Amino acid sequence: MRSYRKELWFNTPTRVAFINITPQVEECLRESGIQEGIVLVNAMHITASVFINDDESGLHHDYTNWLEQLAPHEPIHQYRHNDSGEDNADAHLKRQIMGREVVVAITKGKLDFGPWEQIFYGEFDGRRPKRVLVKIIGE
Ligand code: ZN
Repeated sequence: MRSYRKELWFNTPTRVAFINITPQVEECLRESGIQEGIVLVNAMHITASVFINDDESGLHHDYTNWLEQLAPHEPIHQYRHNDSGEDNADAHLKRQIMGREVVVAITKGKLDFGPWEQIFYGEFDGRRPKRVLVKIIGE
């Protein structure tokens, strides 16, 4: 069995952002040379997500509004987490809803997606360098 590990770095200019990272994961897969196996892609921060869905701008707008209704950023003092002086309680909650990681099968050297599936990085407390881990195992 072979294994491959890489960290992808992001520093979004906005607090909330959605980035299609499928091309970077495909590049990792090419670098790994693995033809049959599994790729794990996970956010390495507790205020960011990795998830799979459609690359459709209306949907990303809907996520932003839906998450803001569930966990509004303001007022900051509505959250006990922010009593410590932080202001990112909403980002922790948004990450919990959108998930930490995805696992995708690798078949014949390709990501074995269903229709329209793409991998996204979801940022909920950006404007600083943050990482995503890509771990590939197989042969
Ligand atoms: Zn926090």
